[in-house]
Amino acid sequence: MTLAFITLLLLLLISLFYIFRLKRSIVELTKYLEHIIQDKKLKKIFFHRKGFNYDTILTIKKIEDRIENLKVRLEKKEKLLEKLFYSVPIPLAFFTKDGKLEFKNYSFEKLFGDISNLDDLKNLLRKESFYEITRETADKIEKRNTEIEWKNRFYSVNLDIVRFEQRESYLISFLDITELKKTQIIKAEFTSNVSHELKTPLTVIKGFIETLEKELPEDKLYMIKTIKRHIDRLQNLVSDILMLDMVESEKNIIFESFDLNVTVQTAISLLEKEAKEKNIEIIFKNEVDLTVNGDSFLILQALINILTNAIKYTPVGGNITLKIGKNDGKIFFFCKDTGIGIPSQHLPRIFERFYVVDKSRSRQMGGTGLGLSIVKHIIELHKGNITVNSEPGKGTEFIIELPVM
Ligand code: ADP
Repeated sequence: MTLAFITLLLLLLISLFYIFRLKRSIVELTKYLEHIIQDKKLKKIFFHRKGFNYDTILTIKKIEDRIENLKVRLEKKEKLLEKLFYSVPIPLAFFTKDGKLEFKNYSFEKLFGDISNLDDLKNLLRKESFYEITRETADKIEKRNTEIEWKNRFYSVNLDIVRFEQRESYLISFLDITELKKTQIIKAEFTSNVSHELKTPLTVIKGFIETLEKELPEDKLYMIKTIKRHIDRLQNLVSDILMLDMVESEKNIIFESFDLNVTVQTAISLLEKEAKEKNIEIIFKNEVDLTVNGDSFLILQALINILTNAIKYTPVGGNITLKIGKNDGKIFFFCKDTGIGIPSQHLPRIFERFYVVDKSRSRQMGGTGLGLSIVKHIIELHKGNITVNSEPGKGTEFIIELPVM
């Protein structure tokens, strides 16, 4: 009985001893893990080589070594990235959404000096287009871009919204495009000068050809006709290049309020003769009060180009419907013809310079391939949009959309 009692007591003591060790191991293990989480060193914690937790601790230690290793690598990469960001020769800076400067690189510092928030930068630049891209209300647009001129240099300014852990920052960069701009200006000036120089000789040649036409015998007149056709084409080319130059350089552009009805009527009356010659009916119904704010001369030019094409590419006896209207705060102009149409593979390219669907037909008709690119430029200058729908053999519809400014 006594022996049984002693054995039981002994067993109880041994169990208590193991329970106590197990509890201590768990406490140590928890402390160890907490130290890892808190990123502290573990030297002071003692582990029993033969303890329950020894193997587990060894595995955790291996994991910890691996984490430490990854941390070192990550820190290295972070430093490298920071260095790269700092020394990149493009001025770059991060701002918090409420405008505090978070980080700027060396080029940014060199260009703008000691600024500490976005308002400092805005005040320094004083550019409407920069205010525009940094405006809070435009935050649906992820990427915003503008061009500014500052201290005699041109910059393409980009604003990207960077999202990280529910926080938003602005990354603003200033790419120096001065050299590109200079080349563009030289190219445009050269083209414009050459075109101007060509104008007078072409007029003189045309004048003399017309005199010669009256004196040449009937059987030689075909030569004069061919020369005249080519001179017409050259004259069209020169005036289209000059027009494109004017729109691109935004020179002599005057914004004013005008009635779109009058502009459409003017375009129709200027092209009435060509339409009549092909027995094409132009249908247009006046709309009440359609005031547009823009350059009336350029808008008229755009409508003339669209209408000229509609007449050119519509066979004899067809018709052209013109419509204007106001919807959803925008002004619309529609031009629908019953002409030859444009195959779908050409549609995305017809607004490019010198792009023509059928080279020989365009040439035959005195086309230059510049008409629609002029239209697109004019519409973009007015912050509008132009689209086209077409079906070969059925007709083409151009839709111009202008904001009410
Ligand atoms: P082009 O001087 O050759 O007319 P544009 O830039 O005005 O040059 O037009 C580009 C091309 O788009 C034309 O060559 C023509 O093939 C096509 N196009 C333009 N408008 C029409 C239209 N209303 N119907 C059919 N094709 C058209």
